[in-house]
Amino acid sequence: NLNDAPRETRSTCPYCGVGCGVIIESRGDAITGVRGDPAHPANLGRLCTKGSTLHLTASPQVNQQTRLLQPLRRLQRGGPAQALAWDQALDLAGQKLADTVQQHGPNALGFYLSGQLLTEDYYVFNKLVKGLLGSNNLDTNSRLCMSSAVAGYKATLGADAPPASYTDVDHAHCLFITGSNTAWAHPILFRRIEDAKRARPEMKIVVVDPRRTDTVELADLHLALQPGTDVMLYHGMLHLMLREGWTQPAYIAAHTTGFEALVELVRDCTPERTAEVCGLRVEDLCEATRLFATSPATLSLYCQGLNQSSSGTSKNAALINLHLATGQIGRPGAAPFSLTGQPNAMGGREVGGLSNLLSAHRDMGNPAHRAEVAALWGVADVPAVPGKSAIEMFQAAADGEIKALWIACTNPAQSLPDQATVRRALERAEFVVVQEAFATTATTAYADLLLPATPWGEKTGTVTNSERRISRVRAALPPRGEARHDWAIGVALAQRLEARLRPGQPTLFPYDTQDALLGTEAIWLEHRESTRGRDLDITGLSYALLDTLGPQQWPWPEGARAGRVRLYEDGVFPTPDGRARFHSAAFRPVAEATDREHPYALNTGRLRDQWHGMSRTGTLGRLFGHAAEPALQMNPQDLAREGWAEGSLVRVQSRRGSVVLPVQACAEQAPQQVFIPMHWGQEFVSGRDADGQPHLGVNALMPSTFCPQSKQPELKHAAVRLSAA
Ligand code: SF4
Repeated sequence: NLNDAPRETRSTCPYCGVGCGVIIESRGDAITGVRGDPAHPANLGRLCTKGSTLHLTASPQVNQQTRLLQPLRRLQRGGPAQALAWDQALDLAGQKLADTVQQHGPNALGFYLSGQLLTEDYYVFNKLVKGLLGSNNLDTNSRLCMSSAVAGYKATLGADAPPASYTDVDHAHCLFITGSNTAWAHPILFRRIEDAKRARPEMKIVVVDPRRTDTVELADLHLALQPGTDVMLYHGMLHLMLREGWTQPAYIAAHTTGFEALVELVRDCTPERTAEVCGLRVEDLCEATRLFATSPATLSLYCQGLNQSSSGTSKNAALINLHLATGQIGRPGAAPFSLTGQPNAMGGREVGGLSNLLSAHRDMGNPAHRAEVAALWGVADVPAVPGKSAIEMFQAAADGEIKALWIACTNPAQSLPDQATVRRALERAEFVVVQEAFATTATTAYADLLLPATPWGEKTGTVTNSERRISRVRAALPPRGEARHDWAIGVALAQRLEARLRPGQPTLFPYDTQDALLGTEAIWLEHRESTRGRDLDITGLSYALLDTLGPQQWPWPEGARAGRVRLYEDGVFPTPDGRARFHSAAFRPVAEATDREHPYALNTGRLRDQWHGMSRTGTLGRLFGHAAEPALQMNPQDLAREGWAEGSLVRVQSRRGSVVLPVQACAEQAPQQVFIPMHWGQEFVSGRDADGQPHLGVNALMPSTFCPQSKQPELKHAAVRLSAA
């Protein structure tokens, strides 16, 4: 309504882990514009194509077409969905879940959440599953994104805490970007890197990536390694550092343990052998190692190329080994800095929102830690045994072990690997609840009960970005239709379960669901208390302080006057003896080697202007200007050898399924390697398999093999064969 006064609301972009601040412009019941917040330290007013078009994806017209705006129930799978009142929907959900617990125990439930939820949403569901139900079967799509980074940090530095800040880019003399197309996946951080290179052309940039991505365009040196050989590369670099005397024995002696075993492990990783395994030139390997080790300050930036791997933990840890061996940590511009994929994967980790984590970086296996969490929540105990991770959870549902699935703010029917198993899981589960803002995701088709949730623009709470910075998320509009906040849905469910499972006892969830600000603040204060004395202590922060001072970094304990820009500056690490630990793990190749039957290595990843399964970005025509449709990207020499023309339809077949796509010549692809963007699902990939099943998008091809430590699946590599379709 043009008669309404225009309003401005400071909030945070809901897409990637850079965590840019936005100012939402609204009028009446419509979001009318968005611009970068110049006061937000993550972006200083800048936004990328996705962030700057947020308002267009939240227009009334788009909402009309895409939003889930009332609770719906299907009496039959695949049948029409019928509206029902919230109370009926929640009563039904509470009854089905309580019945399942009473018949089969709490581990017959699986909760699958999202790195796009806010910290307060995560907190409530974590408490509900681990505290009230007594199960650890709560996992999130952060398992596909960050769990190898978590395991890598914990194995080496002792805690899941990225030690650097974005400002370290301005202090680095060498940027070592590995397994990250930062230019597309973290665009505003990349603008900062471009600025730094412009201001200090002497700063060296090394990019390690099998593909010649846009990030490589800024690099002084590109190491186009063979897929999955990262651990071999880092071990080979350490071998060279030892040979050339580039390690820092004094730092190693004072601040670390386990170096002797690692020295022994890398003894055979000669430059010649490393270059051969990784497909690199010895000269390039030597130059990259020299730049890393001898630069006054080296900052590594890394993401899914390391994380989404069957040896993801080893990749992360082997890179951190290099920082410890050369003392490239705890100083301005020197650190191993894992970039977060999703906007709040970090906040989820803080509250313990994975099946193997407990609140505030506590360990499930530690009785004292469990007792602390149980006391905070007012329950007798929390379970000690890790629950099922994402892949295991859907496998257990496909096997009939998990009877009911609760899915919030994520789309596993598109985004998990081995889609055939995921679809079997969704079909076999006796009760599937999907809590979603969008009615249009592939997973909603499997729901027995659909619960409408509020999206960006309507939500209130906090998120934490890649550099440990907590930002407020604020609502510009009230919830549309009958949508409710994710945390409030969790509270309403919990209270119904309490009536069955702990009748007559006071509620564990006393949060005000009528006032979102009061409710979320009460939840956040409880989370805050859980961090007291922990490495991520935020007991000195408050909503009021975040409102006054703006987004702040943890830790910020009570009495502190500022958060910490950089960790481990004193060389003391959060391990029992205060020393960082070198991690000795031998190089293992990708889980699924290419062979005569499947001779091409398939990689998947992001495009610049799309986000995940495109529930939001896919609503906007202009975001298809960069890439209009999914395609198989292939080296021109391979294309010529196969005898195909640009645009020919090609069947891509892995050991699990196939998709048919137009082929695109792409000089950035190495020979015998192909790439498919991750964003398109079944709706966009035409045709059916030989057995009549519809193609399910690129994740039909990918293996569910996961890293044994982090349980993160290998979404960056599958062996495939190609044929004319
Ligand atoms: Fe949003 Fe990430 Fe773009 Fe920033 S860089 S505007 S957080 S998508």
